[in-house]
Amino acid sequence: MDTIFYNGMIRTQDNAYPACSAVAVKGGVIMRLGCDEEILPLAGKNTKTVDLAGKLMLPGFIDTHLHMLNYIEFLEQVNLSEARSLRQVQELCAAKVGQAAEKGKWLGGVSFNQDHWEVPQMPTRKDLDAISQDVPIVIRRACFNMSVVNTKGMEMLGIMGEREGLTQMLLGFYDDGTPNGIIRQHSQDILAKAVTIPALEDIKEMILKACAHMAKQGITSVHSEDYINYAVDSSELIARAYKELAAEGKLPLRVYQQCAFRTKEQLEAFLATENKPGAEFGRYKIGPLKVFEDGALGARTACLKDGYLNDPGKKGILIHPKEELYELFATAHKNGMQIATHCIGDEALDVTMDAYERVMNEYPRVDPRHGIIHCQLMTCGQQERFRQLNIIGYVQPVFIESDMNIVDDCVGSDLAKQSYNWRAYIDMGVHISGSSDCPVEAFDILPNICYCVTRSKKDGSKTWYPENGITIDEAVRMFTLEGAYASFEEAVKGSITVGKYADLVVVDRDIYQIEPGEIQDAQVLMTVVNGEIIYKR
Ligand SMILES: [Zn+2]
Repeated sequence: MDTIFYNGMIRTQDNAYPACSAVAVKGGVIMRLGCDEEILPLAGKNTKTVDLAGKLMLPGFIDTHLHMLNYIEFLEQVNLSEARSLRQVQELCAAKVGQAAEKGKWLGGVSFNQDHWEVPQMPTRKDLDAISQDVPIVIRRACFNMSVVNTKGMEMLGIMGEREGLTQMLLGFYDDGTPNGIIRQHSQDILAKAVTIPALEDIKEMILKACAHMAKQGITSVHSEDYINYAVDSSELIARAYKELAAEGKLPLRVYQQCAFRTKEQLEAFLATENKPGAEFGRYKIGPLKVFEDGALGARTACLKDGYLNDPGKKGILIHPKEELYELFATAHKNGMQIATHCIGDEALDVTMDAYERVMNEYPRVDPRHGIIHCQLMTCGQQERFRQLNIIGYVQPVFIESDMNIVDDCVGSDLAKQSYNWRAYIDMGVHISGSSDCPVEAFDILPNICYCVTRSKKDGSKTWYPENGITIDEAVRMFTLEGAYASFEEAVKGSITVGKYADLVVVDRDIYQIEPGEIQDAQVLMTVVNGEIIYKR
């Protein structure tokens, strides 16, 4: 044996053998499970033995939707997530504007959320002009679905001349008809002009840095969406960075790429390369086509059947018209590619399920595991259809921290209580995996697991439809075995089972026994990928 972990409280997520105290690993694979008396004698001269000191060991955590490169980029920008007023946003940005001016760069701010402000009013370009009229400034809303640019920036992007009713872009306008600096959804692609595309080596550095941060949270696998970072055609550059790291044996985590493309042509070009669906390049694997079908609630771009109760007349937006969505899906589906679609509103969900049903009927394929990323607003009827179509869900429990402030106002409590209903999905036998959508939220898994169980705000000040919550064991499964299922890898990872990869995490307390509200305080002590300790506290 290469390594024996012993004296642990090992919860395997394998129903056939749910608990043990020791695990023996060889060649990156779990060879034996048992009690210390059975396993320790297997140690040879060169076997490393690791005393778990009675701590909890679980299968390594899997986050099934995040944005690795965006995360690193965001670290370098002004973090506006804690701002509680427009004034604070202006102050935080003003403190960095000199630096940006010196470097001749844009000033970037990220993660503002006006719903958390004393006066929850959407900022516009004139609010940012108060910070600087000479330095171009862009701030992004926490949900990614909208940005606000100052006048200088709008001029540099060449879009100050756009006019309401005439423009093809999703922009906001003042009453005088001039753009107000708000740019929504895919129209934000124009902001690619505001960033310099990093070189290959820099992208590799960014990936390694992100992986190191994730390892501290016990993450051993991620599904990362990175292709639409700098421009829609950055897929080749980014894929190359991952593949080189994997080939050099430097990629610490297993990465499943959620391949975001907007058009059928882009997807076809991608599929004509070596990037075939499911192709594995060491620890880097080609995952599903990632499609956006609507936006987000806070930006009022999530597409709702009955519109926004708190913003009459607004229904949100559908990114792809029905036929275009079908074409995109059909291209992926016929090529054997999995599909994962961003849907938050109930109307977007229906349109997406229609398109899934159509491609699956026209081109029958065994077990395609198409999915919905976010699945937030969903009626009971839609849940039933979800189950019938055998669609998988990618949910972000941590989203309820801020969504519980707005969902009931947006859609009414009748729909709100049917939505974010993880209890129902699991009871129906729907596969749902857990994720953070980082940098939208932090990829800290234990707090995310905590939300599953408590359905409460971090500080306990509010609980939201607790009957829709799930048990601790179900929550752990969402971030382990269900994550593996979402990438067709449940046979090789996701549980501590003989024959699977030795991807493991050790936690400092038994999260099964403590008060649910305290799960968020638990700390990761050790992270193991392929039998190798990649993080130790
Ligand atoms: Zn995302």
